[in-house]
Amino acid sequence: MADATERISQIGKEAADSIAAAPGTAELKELRVRYLGRKAELTAILRGIAELPPDQRGVVGKSGNEVRRRLESLLEERAAELESSELESSLAEGAVDVTLPGSPAHPVGHLHLITRTRRQIEDIMVGLGYTVLEGPEVELDYYNFTALNHPPGHPARMSQDTFYVAPGSLTKAALSAAREAADGAGEEVAATPDEELVVLRTHTSPMQVRAMEAQEPPIFVIVPGKVYRRDSDATHSPMFTQVEGLAVAEDITLADLQGTLLEMLRGIFGPGREARMRPHYFPFTEPSVEFDVSCFACDGAGTLPDGDRCGICKGVGWIEVGGAGMVDPNVFGFVSDKGYDPERVQGFAFGIGVERIAMLRYGVPDLRRFFDNDLRMLEQFT
Ligand SMILES: [Zn+2]
Repeated sequence: MADATERISQIGKEAADSIAAAPGTAELKELRVRYLGRKAELTAILRGIAELPPDQRGVVGKSGNEVRRRLESLLEERAAELESSELESSLAEGAVDVTLPGSPAHPVGHLHLITRTRRQIEDIMVGLGYTVLEGPEVELDYYNFTALNHPPGHPARMSQDTFYVAPGSLTKAALSAAREAADGAGEEVAATPDEELVVLRTHTSPMQVRAMEAQEPPIFVIVPGKVYRRDSDATHSPMFTQVEGLAVAEDITLADLQGTLLEMLRGIFGPGREARMRPHYFPFTEPSVEFDVSCFACDGAGTLPDGDRCGICKGVGWIEVGGAGMVDPNVFGFVSDKGYDPERVQGFAFGIGVERIAMLRYGVPDLRRFFDNDLRMLEQFT
C-alpha cells in the first residue's frame, strides 16, 4: 500500500516541522497528542495494519514505527531545549536587583551629633592649616601630668578626679614600649614611681608633649579624642570628648590665640560672633585664659527681643566655651632637645569640650543624653 507509506512519511515531515517550530512546552504537549495520541492519524494507521494485505503489513508497520520513534525523540529533544530556555527567561524576568532601594527605602541612619560636631571643628581647624592627631586614651602619668607641669604632689593634680589604671595591668613589654616612646630617642628612661602610673587621660593635652617629641617647631596640631574624669551630672560625664589645639612657632603671641579662637568660634556658632578672654589658671599655660563666645541666641544682648532674659547665656550675653593660654616655658623644658627653646619659640594651646559645644548649639539640656543610645533623642539631629 504505497498510499499508506507515503502518508506516513508526509505525517512524519509535517510533525517534524511543527515540533521544530513549537514556541513552548505547552504547544509541544498538544503536538504530542495530535501526532502520537490515541486519536492520531499515525496511531490509526498502525492500528489498521492487521487489515492490510499481508504483503504490505511489514512495510507499513516498519515505516510507521520508524516515524513514531523519530517523532518521540524529536519531541524529547525539543522539550529539553524549550525547558532550558524557559528556565533562563523566567530567571531573567524574576531576577531581583538587590542594589535597588527598598520600598519604602530603609532608613540608613546618620552620624552621632558628637561625631558631627567634632568633625565640624576639625574641618575649621584644618582650614586654618592645622593637622589632626589622635593619641592614646590610656596614658602614662608622665604625659598626662608631669610633662604638663603638674609635678608629683602639685595641687592641680587634685583638681581633676582621675581614673588610675592598676600598675599591674600594664605588662612589662607595654611599659617598656611606652618608656621608649616617652624617650623618643629609643633609649631607656630611668624609672621613677610616677612614670609607672597609668591613667585614663583626663584631657587630650598629653598629645601636646607627644606631638612636640615627634616634630620640631613650627607645629600646628589639633587633638580630638575621648577623655575620662570621675564626674557625673547634667553637664559632666565620666567620658567626654575634647578637642585640644597646639601652635608653636617663632613670634606667636596671645593675639594669635585670640584670632584663632575667633575664627574657630565663628565657624561653629556663626559669622557674627565675637570672642573674649578672661584671666584664669592652668598649670601648663602662662598666662592662662578662659574664653567665651558672644551669645548666638540673644546676639550678646542678654535679653531676647520680647524682653525675656536669655536662657542660653543666662542673661550675661557671653557663653564660656573653653580654656587656653600661652604654653608654659616649663612644658617646653620637657622637649627642649627637640628644638623647643622658650627663648626662640612661643606657642599657645586651647581646649574645648565637644559635648558642651553640641549642647549649646542644639539646645540639649543634659550631656548624659548623648550616651543613652535613645533613638528618640539621637534621631532629632539628622
Ligand atoms: Zn544669650
